[in-house]
Amino acid sequence: MASSADRGGEAPAQGGHRLERDVFRQLIETAPDALVIIDRLGRIVLVNAQTERLFGYDREDLLGQSIEILIPGRFRAQHALHRVGYFKTPRARAMGSGLELSGLRRDGTEFPVEISLAPLETEDGVLISSAIRDVSERKRAEAEVRLVSDRLLSAVESIQDMLALYDAERRMVLCNSAFRSLFARGVEGAIVGRTIEEILDGSLRAGLFETGGEPTSAFRKRCLDYHANPVGTLELQTSDGRALRVTNRRTLEGGIVSTIWDITDDVRKEKELQTARALAEAASSAKSEFLSSMSHELRTPLNSILGFAQLLQRDRKSPLTERQLERLEHVLKGGEHLLRLIDDILDLSRIETGRMTTSLEPVRVAEVLAEVKSTLAPMASRAGITLVVGAVPEQAGEVMADRTRFAQILINYGSNAIKYGRPGGTATLEVKGHDPKLVRVSVSDDGIGIPVEHQSKIFEPFQRAGQETGPIEGTGIGLTITKRLAELMGGSVGFESVAGKGSEFWIDLPRPVALVEQEAAPHATESSGAPSPLAAEGGASYRVVYIEDNPSNIAFMRELMADFDRVALVTVPTAEVGIEVVRDTQPHVVIMDINLPGMSGYEATKKLRSWPETSHIPVIALSAAAMVADRTRVADAGFYRYLTKPVRVSELMETLEELFSGSGTQQLPQ
Ligand code: ADP
Repeated sequence: MASSADRGGEAPAQGGHRLERDVFRQLIETAPDALVIIDRLGRIVLVNAQTERLFGYDREDLLGQSIEILIPGRFRAQHALHRVGYFKTPRARAMGSGLELSGLRRDGTEFPVEISLAPLETEDGVLISSAIRDVSERKRAEAEVRLVSDRLLSAVESIQDMLALYDAERRMVLCNSAFRSLFARGVEGAIVGRTIEEILDGSLRAGLFETGGEPTSAFRKRCLDYHANPVGTLELQTSDGRALRVTNRRTLEGGIVSTIWDITDDVRKEKELQTARALAEAASSAKSEFLSSMSHELRTPLNSILGFAQLLQRDRKSPLTERQLERLEHVLKGGEHLLRLIDDILDLSRIETGRMTTSLEPVRVAEVLAEVKSTLAPMASRAGITLVVGAVPEQAGEVMADRTRFAQILINYGSNAIKYGRPGGTATLEVKGHDPKLVRVSVSDDGIGIPVEHQSKIFEPFQRAGQETGPIEGTGIGLTITKRLAELMGGSVGFESVAGKGSEFWIDLPRPVALVEQEAAPHATESSGAPSPLAAEGGASYRVVYIEDNPSNIAFMRELMADFDRVALVTVPTAEVGIEVVRDTQPHVVIMDINLPGMSGYEATKKLRSWPETSHIPVIALSAAAMVADRTRVADAGFYRYLTKPVRVSELMETLEELFSGSGTQQLPQ
C-alpha cells in the first residue's frame, strides 16, 4: 500500500485530498501499534514506523513479502488458511481471540502480540489492515500478578484453620479447603461468590451448628451482626461436637477476613484444668481444714498432759523424787515441743485458708527486740551461744506491724540462728538499712550456713535444706510462716548465707506513715483492768468461778486450786448459768473459757461488764484458740487478761496473785 500511497501522492492535485492524505500518513506513522496492510495474496503492501521498530526490519525488506514472514514458522500454514478464510467474510475483529499469538522478529526472537483486523475497501480490491500490539509487558505483569495470587492462594490453602475473605458486598472472594469442607455441605455449587447470608442460611438448613437452645433467628442475627461489626470473637458449636472460635477483621476495602479456629481441644483442656483446679483447691482446703481441726483436737489432750505434768512438778503435799522430776522434765519438754509443732501447723493452715488476720499498729522495735531477747535467752545459753541485740537507731524506732506476729518472726529467725549456730558463736539481732520508708531487722549468726543448692527453696513448706536427716530438730515450716506473715503485714523477707560461715535473715517492714506518736491503744493484756476487789480483804478466802465445759480442764483446775487452801473454786459448765452464778455469788475472779456451747465466753464477759452488779469483777479468758482474731476481740469483751491453753501454771498463778494482792501487799494464800 506504500506504493499505492505514493501513487496517490502523485495523483492529480486537489488541495483537500492532499491534506487528507498527509494527515492520514502521519496518523499511520505515529500510531503506537504496528500497522501492516496486506493484499488478498497475503503480501505486505504497507507498514508504518512502529512495524519497523517492533519487528526489526526496514520497510523495504517487508514490502511485497508474505505476511507470514512476521509469524513463527510453526503457525505459518495455519495462518495462511485463516487469512484466506478471512478474505471470504472480512469484518473488523480481533484475531485469534482466546489464542496466544506470537510475532517473529527479524533476529528470530518471538514476542506475544495482540492483533486486530479490519478489511479496507480500495480501488485495487479488498486489503486487510492488522494493528499489532506488543503485549510482552502486559503479559509479564499478568504473570507476576498470577504468581502473587497463586502464592497467596497456596498460603491460604496451607493454613489448617478455616479462612475466608468476603468483599464489601458481603460476597465470598476466596476461602481455603478447611473452610470449604465445613461450609460447602450447606451450599449447592461454588461457594465463592455467595453472600455470607447465603452461606449461613445454607449451613443452618444443613444443621451444621448446634445452637444450644438459642432460637435459629437469634443465632443467625448474632452471626450476621458479628460480620457487620466484628468486635471481639464469636464462639460457635458444631453439631458434631466441635467448638469453633471465629475472628473477623475488616480489610482496607471494607471486606472481611474471617478466621475460624477449632478450639475443641483447648476447651476440653480448659475444662479439665478447671476440674483439676477445683479438685486441688477442694483437696487443699480439706487438708487445711483437717489440719486445723486436728491441731485443735490435739491441743485438748495436750492441755491435760502438760497441765497435770506441771501439777505433779509443783505438788507440795506429796513432792516427787529427783528421779521422777527428771523424767517429768522429759514429759514436759516433749509436750512443749509437740505444742510448738501444732501451733506452727495451725498457723500455716490458717494462713493457707486465708483465716490468719493481723492487726497492724505502730510497734516500737526496741521493745519487741527486748521481748524476743528474753524469750530466746534460755535457749541461747543452753546452746552456748551469745545473744546480742544491737541498739535501735532513733529514726527506726517504730514499724507498722502486728506486734505478736512481728515478735514471732524474730523468734523464728532467732531460734534458727541458735539451732543452726555453733557453740561459742554469736546470734545478733539488729536494725539495719537506711530506707526512709522501711525498717530492716536482721538476725545473723556465724553458724553452719546454707549450701547454695538449697537456698532457693528454704521459704517453701517442709523444706529443710539438707537438715532432714541431721540431729537438729525442725519441721521446715518456720520460714514459710515467717515469709507469709511478713507479707500479710505488708513487709518482705530475705536472707544471705554462706555454707560453713553463717547466715543473715531479715524482715523489712514499713515505717508508720503518721509521724505523730499514736496513743497506745488500750490492749486487754496491758489494760489496767478492774481494780483488785480483794485489796482490803486480808486473809479472807477468795472465790473463783470457772466457766468451762471440758471435764478434763475442770479436773485440772480443781487439782490446781486444791493446792491453795484459801481459794474456793466453783465450776459452771455453761456461760448462761455461769453469769447468773457470778451475779449471785459475787466472786473475786472469773476464769472464762471462750469456746463454750451456746453463749460464748466473749458474750458472757460482755454481759458481766454491762451489769452494774458484776462490772467490777475481773475476768481471765482461757482459750485454746490462740488466734489473733480472738485477741482483737479481747479488747472489746473487756477481759482482765487473756491466757491461752495449755495453761502455763506460772502465768495463771501470777495473774491470780496480781489480782488477789491488789496494791501488792497481799499474797496469794497458800
Ligand atoms: P526448721 O524447722 O527445719 O528449722 P525453717 O523453716 O525454720 O525450718 O528453716 C528451713 C531450713 O532452712 C532449715 O531446715 C535449715 O536447713 C535452714 N535454715 C534456716 N535458718 C538457718 C540458719 N540461721 N542457718 C542455717 N540454716 C538455716
